[in-house]
Amino acid sequence: MSALAPAQSPLAPPAEETLDPVDWEALRELTHRIVDEALDYVRDVRDRPPWQDMPPEVKASFASGLPASPTLLSGVYREVSETVMRYPMGNIHPRFWSWYMGSSNFTGALGDFLAAVQGSNLGGGNHAAAQVERQVIDWFKEMMGFPASASGTLVSGGSVANLVALTVARNAKAGTDIREHGVGSVERPLRFYGSDQLHSCHRKSMETIGLGNAALRRVPSDEGSHIDIPALREAIAEDREAGVQPACIIGSAGTVNTGAIDNLEELAEVAEREGLWFHVDGCIGALIAIAPGNAWRVKGISRAHSIALDPHKWLHAPFEVGCVLIRDARTHRGTFALTPEYLEHTARGLASGEWLYDYGLQTTRGFRALKVWMSLKEHGAAKFGRLIDQNIAQAAYLAGLIEAELALELHEAREINIVCFRHRADALGADRRKAVNVEIMLRLQEQGLAVISDTTLKGEHWLRVAVNNHRTRREDLELLVREVLRIGGQVIGDLHASGANPKG
Ligand SMILES: *Cc1c(COP(=O)(O)O)cnc(C)c1O
Repeated sequence: MSALAPAQSPLAPPAEETLDPVDWEALRELTHRIVDEALDYVRDVRDRPPWQDMPPEVKASFASGLPASPTLLSGVYREVSETVMRYPMGNIHPRFWSWYMGSSNFTGALGDFLAAVQGSNLGGGNHAAAQVERQVIDWFKEMMGFPASASGTLVSGGSVANLVALTVARNAKAGTDIREHGVGSVERPLRFYGSDQLHSCHRKSMETIGLGNAALRRVPSDEGSHIDIPALREAIAEDREAGVQPACIIGSAGTVNTGAIDNLEELAEVAEREGLWFHVDGCIGALIAIAPGNAWRVKGISRAHSIALDPHKWLHAPFEVGCVLIRDARTHRGTFALTPEYLEHTARGLASGEWLYDYGLQTTRGFRALKVWMSLKEHGAAKFGRLIDQNIAQAAYLAGLIEAELALELHEAREINIVCFRHRADALGADRRKAVNVEIMLRLQEQGLAVISDTTLKGEHWLRVAVNNHRTRREDLELLVREVLRIGGQVIGDLHASGANPKG
């Protein structure tokens, strides 16, 4: 029957369909089982390998076409547990230290579940979920030492948090009505500044906001990977001379490569003196502000005009949740606020609450705040601060273990929780060192021991360990060093035996 055909008889319309279950009790039973197994999954994570490659049949299972006919939910769940849950990325594992992630937490998962159950749209309005988000933003302002009058919004992650902030900075410094007339109306080209260690998302932001990659001037970093402030001053003076309009300084509170924190106090001074916007990319390190032993490292962050931070990193909220704070709420709203006729405010009722979509790019927004709100209430902010101190202390411990091994070399630029090191592979010579270290990294993953990543610092290859994990124990780091030495010996042996000349 065509969907448009009239009902056969006005007396007997077809039964209406719904996505709700026919048998609520059966669903209750299955849901309890799923929750039980989810708890065991997290409790026993240490007993499983951090990562395993999927067998071909599992990979193939994801190639089946659009399901046309129904499957019992219990069957769907069985497939999820046998495929999806068995082959995770691994970042909730105590020995996952790749790139820069968070290790999640079960309360946050419950928060995401309840947020989805309630299903509210955080585009705004007068309802409790919107109050929760506003409160979470207030808490982040408090953590960063921002005034209560500042604004903020929760976004998908640090990349979008930075994009939102750079958009506000662009509009604030354009000197024209850029919303109406676009970037072509700007008289002198705007220039943004950051160190050569900036996260790649800033380039994407510059491209997206129409200023282009070339408008982001990378200032050289010093030996410790911090922005070279005299070089920054020179760059600004040189650009002014050339008729370019310096607009914004992006400070890094924790670089991805080594965790270096720029001198935020001095950057704030330069920005103030030069009349520039001061943005801090604090996706890694902004939250150090709540860690009693290390908060001094981010002194000056409260002087920023905007901060991007990432609760799904060092607060271990389940992905995704990022946060951007803007000191001047009017400039923030002035960049994004737009109320179409179908979303007009009312004095009372649901539409009497603030529209939260006025602070960013999305209209419909998810209830990301609940997972953060629940975890912060449960543990208190002080515990998260202690966990940050703990990770930084663990990284120092790992550095000590590496230094004690003649076969290993520690990179000196360790500031917070990121440690770079490598196997010296002395027996093979420096030209084959990279191949040895890449092989060590891959075998650690493949043997289900630990997940670490690598990077290039000043042209040289290093293994990289980011201890951003509330499950890591010192014994895990001891295991890492032991296994790097064992596998390193094997790899060198294999290369010797094969006599091959692997590409570095
Ligand atoms: C992770 C990170 C980002 C990007 O954040 P996402 O949450 O991955 O989008 C930006 N800057 C720095 C320094 C980061 O570590």
